[in-house]
Amino acid sequence: MVAVVGGGQLARMMVPAATALGVHLRVLVEAPTTSAAQVVRDAPVGAAADDDAVRGLVTAAPAADVLTFEHEHVPNALLEALVAEGHPVHPGAHALVHAQDKIVMRRRLTALGVPCPRWTELPDAAALDAFLAEVGPAAVVKTARGGYDGKGVRVVRSSGDVADWFAALADGGVPLLAEERVPFTRELAVLVARRPSGEVRAWPVVESVQRHGVCSEVVAPAPDLDPGLAREATALAVSVAEGLDVTGVLAVELFEVPGADGAPTVLVNELAMRPHNSGHWTIDGSVTSQFEQHLRAVLDLPLGETRARERWSVMANVLGSSHADLADALGAVTAHDAGAKVHLYGKDVRPGRKLGHVTVTGDDLDDVRARARTAAAVLRGDSTEEDA
Ligand code: ADP
Repeated sequence: MVAVVGGGQLARMMVPAATALGVHLRVLVEAPTTSAAQVVRDAPVGAAADDDAVRGLVTAAPAADVLTFEHEHVPNALLEALVAEGHPVHPGAHALVHAQDKIVMRRRLTALGVPCPRWTELPDAAALDAFLAEVGPAAVVKTARGGYDGKGVRVVRSSGDVADWFAALADGGVPLLAEERVPFTRELAVLVARRPSGEVRAWPVVESVQRHGVCSEVVAPAPDLDPGLAREATALAVSVAEGLDVTGVLAVELFEVPGADGAPTVLVNELAMRPHNSGHWTIDGSVTSQFEQHLRAVLDLPLGETRARERWSVMANVLGSSHADLADALGAVTAHDAGAKVHLYGKDVRPGRKLGHVTVTGDDLDDVRARARTAAAVLRGDSTEEDA
């Protein structure tokens, strides 16, 4: 019996894995209509910030064997209290804090010797101007907490570009940090899973493509990635999982950058301690999906194989649609490409919203990528892929 905080598409995609494993899922949902609430029978409604709701999720009969999450916005004091009372929580609050707060994450990764962009905390605007003088002309300012999908990230050339954030900070708002603007050649991600008893498995390193700060496409494995760099990136992700004592699935988002000697290297951008968009391809493309692996890991069961089933997998997100109901396009997608695997999240259509994804697997990357893009375009209601 696994209790999950958060009723979005990530919890929804845990359901088929839980069903196959015969695991009872209980999900704390924000409303009776959320993505996961539509498909989970045991789905109490409540807020992640509500101690009583989270406590009830764990202790109601049958009591949960473990509490886990589909997002990081949970009160740590309560998690620690639950652990003290004998209820396992994975990942634990001591690990989760690194996915909740980018300043805590940067401090810890720097202490562990993990390569990161140059960064600094921003107590005030003067600190940003000093940092810009050092790394300029541009830098990236981030809110330490509460950001997602590029919200809470701004490229700046002077402290005036984030005057509103400094005003909020002066009013007791969210702490800020600045990072050098990394001249990355592309973004990579490494997904690993780790059990409380220590077993770790990693999936192949992927390339993730962002559009307007939101993931639009993932290619597994990352094309033309130097095998040495793939090993280095994987070892880095494993060392982060071990160093931070992460349990469950950990996504390590990376920037690939030209190194000092010209050879490519990687810097860590972000951490997520839960199934992640960069791992949706594993449902159709890997022997073990990230959702099954997360359940296995938090239950401290032996982990499944993470090898890719086919040479290439491409996952394309469906971000917004001109269809009122995406199900209207199901026939068209499959008639066009019977091999495209469609995943819809049951969410109301809004511009740019993550409504679903499509995965295509096969031997020829160009073909697989084109098919994934076309299927996503059909679900978006575009007349051709070029319009996308
Ligand atoms: P979020 O928490 O909203 O996902 P991220 O920190 O992952 O925010 O940043 C979102 C995107 O902004 C990244 O995927 C990357 O494209 C860009 N970005 C973030 N930090 C930097 C940086 N230091 N240099 C260059 N681009 C960055």
